[in-house]
Amino acid sequence: MTGIRPLVAGNWKMNGLGGDLSELTSLRERLAAKPVPEADIMVCPPDTLLTRAAQVLDGSRIMLGAQDCHPLPSGAHTGDISAEMLADAGATAVIVGHSERRNNHGESDPLVQAKALAAYRAGLTAIICLGETEAHYRAGETLDVLRGQLEGSVPESARSATTVIAYEPVWAIGSGLTPTPDEVAKVHGLIRSVVGQMLGKEEAGAIRLLYGGSVKPANAAELLFVPDVNGALVGGASLTAEDFYGILSVYGRAQG
Ligand code: PEP
Repeated sequence: MTGIRPLVAGNWKMNGLGGDLSELTSLRERLAAKPVPEADIMVCPPDTLLTRAAQVLDGSRIMLGAQDCHPLPSGAHTGDISAEMLADAGATAVIVGHSERRNNHGESDPLVQAKALAAYRAGLTAIICLGETEAHYRAGETLDVLRGQLEGSVPESARSATTVIAYEPVWAIGSGLTPTPDEVAKVHGLIRSVVGQMLGKEEAGAIRLLYGGSVKPANAAELLFVPDVNGALVGGASLTAEDFYGILSVYGRAQG
């Protein structure tokens, strides 16, 4: 383990109605009963729940994030939401460049970079996602793809205090498949070294690199204690307090 404090962030995607906020209440209760002080914790519900989630989480150490933002602060962009609006609703972070946005909405590296800059402008942390497709993985092109995404998506002004990088192999998201711990270690090592070339060694040494893709309570310990992994971005298993807490608790367990 490095000295970097881990972050576990839950991405609810397009899931969750008002009644599902009971999962956040339950997560709060579990953490109050058995805290996991060794990790930072964040939940990213859909925008429709942000304000209500902020109320449920008020006074807790669970941070609130959003899943996407528009690059501009305001304007004629029907259906879009700006980083400033997310901050106003109670978010302190926003995911940008998730593969579902890149694939379903054709988001390019420059657009992802513009969204990360929008996050900084609004005072939010940018959680910038990267990841290779199954075809790239099979072709052995993972490292080249990631280098391109890093150089294209991470702004020059990115700093470890306000930027988190999430490595999420596209083929591992929601599939139950995961890379081996050795593969994760290799990729995260490469990401840190490319970030070092881009932002300097000091920032690279402090930036949080999350692994994402089918993290569950059963495999969390195996994936989260890999060198250069500083937490997780969790999709499906963040939807219930039981599973999400099951992942978080590996940090408590590891400390004995
Ligand atoms: C995600 O989409 O960010 C993710 C990691 O999903 P899952 O955990 O469900 O694979």
